[in-house]
Amino acid sequence: LARLRGRLARSGSPLGTRLLAVLSRDHLTEDDWDELEETLLLADVGAGPTGDLIEALRTRVRVDGVREPGAVRDLLREQLIALVDPTLDRSLNLAPGVDAAGEATPAVVLVVGVNGTGKTTTVGKLARVLVAEDRSVVLGAADTFRAAAADQLQTWGSRVGVPTVRSDRDGADPAAVAFDAVRTGKASGVDVVLVDTAGRLQNKAGLMDELGKITRVITREAPLSEVLLVLDATTGQNGLNQARVFGEVAGVTGIVLTKLDGTAKGGIVVAVQRELGVPVKLVGLGEGPDDLAPFDAASFVDGLLE
Ligand code: GDP
Repeated sequence: LARLRGRLARSGSPLGTRLLAVLSRDHLTEDDWDELEETLLLADVGAGPTGDLIEALRTRVRVDGVREPGAVRDLLREQLIALVDPTLDRSLNLAPGVDAAGEATPAVVLVVGVNGTGKTTTVGKLARVLVAEDRSVVLGAADTFRAAAADQLQTWGSRVGVPTVRSDRDGADPAAVAFDAVRTGKASGVDVVLVDTAGRLQNKAGLMDELGKITRVITREAPLSEVLLVLDATTGQNGLNQARVFGEVAGVTGIVLTKLDGTAKGGIVVAVQRELGVPVKLVGLGEGPDDLAPFDAASFVDGLLE
């Protein structure tokens, strides 16, 4: 957590610095309130939540007669944490499932999202976390669209010490690979099967068909425990549009927000949770194997305000 804070502090400092600069003024003028609002908007918090937050903050400042900059900052912190929602359950569901024959199955985690957002990297990092927790893992390379994707996943697999199920040919049926991965996981009695997918957004109907088929084929063998949508935090509104499409198509149960190390736009957490109605569960903080962290509302906000 200390590391998460450090990372976020670095990425979030422009927001934190601006907010703190405004909040350290003795009396907040109309211009100061406008500047606060603009700062939150620039951080991708979104117009609705930003308006609500500013209004709530102004009311508290007025009603409670808060003057002292430190106290205004504490109020802002409180409001931001409430926006990010500390009450959401952000744990991954990794309990074993039960198949149609009543047999126990591995937990199956499907990882979806647009290419380049960090899906394969996230699968690799997550495998490492799970192995460190003494869980056995199988990876499924169902991104058969991008030629190098299966190699990249397999490299992660060897690095972490877990097997990768893949097809020998490019353009193979992703659902068939996903099916094989789950079968293999079941046969070898592993705890978790992580399935990487391709995300072509050019054609929503095509995406829907592909993910629908993958889901149907997997659930013949085992129930899906999690569908994690990977979003790149640096893409702002574009990320929100992606969230909308995948939310409709894939039955998303949790969000992984990657590349938070490279942006001051952490406010996207708020917008995306509102859009999908599911929590951010994990955050990507770099390209390395240890750069995946569970999301925690309070440390996230503290990182922004540090
Ligand atoms: P995919 O196409 O969705 O599977 O995306 P990849 O996993 O191949 O990632 C695309 C690029 O983003 C790679 O260069 C990754 O190293 C990089 N990447 C992934 N996650 C993060 C992250 O959390 N932070 C940073 N800085 N880079 C990341």
